[in-house]
Amino acid sequence: MLKAYNYTCVERFIRYVQIDTQSDPKSGQYPSTEKQKNLSKIVVEELMAMGVTDAVLDGFGYVYATIPSNTDKQVPVICFCSHVDTAPDCSGTNVKPVLHHNYDGKNITLPDDTTQVLSTNEFKYLKEHIGQSIITASGNTLLGADDKAGVAEIMDAANFLITHPEVKHGTIKILFTPDEEIGKGTANLDIKKLGADFGYTLDGGELGTLEDETFSADAAEITIHGVIAHPGYAKDTLVNALKIAGEILARLPKRQFSPETTDKRKGFVHPVRVEGLAEKATLEFIVRDFTREGLKANTKRLQKIAEEVLQKNPKAKMEFKVTEQYRNMKEVLDQHLQVMQYAEEAYKKSGVKVRKQSIRGGTDGSRLSFIGLPCPNIFTGMQGIHSKKEWIGVRDMKKSVEVMVNLAQVWEKRSSERG
Ligand SMILES: [Zn+2]
Repeated sequence: MLKAYNYTCVERFIRYVQIDTQSDPKSGQYPSTEKQKNLSKIVVEELMAMGVTDAVLDGFGYVYATIPSNTDKQVPVICFCSHVDTAPDCSGTNVKPVLHHNYDGKNITLPDDTTQVLSTNEFKYLKEHIGQSIITASGNTLLGADDKAGVAEIMDAANFLITHPEVKHGTIKILFTPDEEIGKGTANLDIKKLGADFGYTLDGGELGTLEDETFSADAAEITIHGVIAHPGYAKDTLVNALKIAGEILARLPKRQFSPETTDKRKGFVHPVRVEGLAEKATLEFIVRDFTREGLKANTKRLQKIAEEVLQKNPKAKMEFKVTEQYRNMKEVLDQHLQVMQYAEEAYKKSGVKVRKQSIRGGTDGSRLSFIGLPCPNIFTGMQGIHSKKEWIGVRDMKKSVEVMVNLAQVWEKRSSERG
């Protein structure tokens, strides 16, 4: 067996994806599935073998580790972070990664399920990988590049920094989280113990993408109280909460304001659950926008629609409750401009064109940003995530490692310039 420090990024990735780390949204445990620790234990062992002596896996499934500074300068502590779990949407058991050398641009039929075919029609980005190596799953499972690509790339960057003492950097923290796919990646994170000033999640897609924005998100709940009566003698008395709920849903705009008809920077309101009886009904919505004002406006608009329906049914009563879910991380990142500036500098140093993007959703990065770790998202190369057609290009994985190594150096270099 190879010593841990001799693995390449691709060798690490191929081993990691074969470990089943699927998380489970229905579990009440932390981590949601114990098997996630199987990968976390391995990365801790490998970090130890590299000489990262403080690497530790805690009871909640978080891995914390430190690459000590090798410079005399005072450099802010930066953290590289990725998640070990894979999505509950698609099986992660018995993943058999397939390495395709020198991809020829033709369709790829996955060996274990020949109905699963990757084509350049479906994935235009595949064309950029002609003549290069790509990795797919075998047809029965997802690949797990989301986010074992991030894990393998961070491990490879750590290994590079440790074996190249001439590359100067400040203290680098490594963080591997469980349960990101079920929205609980930061639930039990000890941010003090981590001890980082700024972070970067390695959980993005195409080469060059750099994400500093997420949605801002609220949940809205409408409860309708109808008036109940014996249906045989209910004339002029009964008010059916289910019918009012239906009317509210019917009045939601269809060509805008909804996820199925919006993209780019447009927000929406999206009913996610209806529950009830004639007497009482509850409607649950998620509300999204990139700005706080937009989010507020979307919520107001929903409330107005509901109130108009209620006005026509004066005997019914309504409660309207809004709960904050998460906020656009750009609000925090704009207060620490160097986090993005240095990342852009590192991309350029690596010969990678920067493509800034917004995420139409939330990430661990948005949660981390608001608990004290401003944290944009760097590309890993992952494509077709949460599906059997998931794949990744080896070129992108290597570039991601290069970006991290350069980023560590940019922080060191800039620290001196500011004295
Ligand atoms: Zn991910």
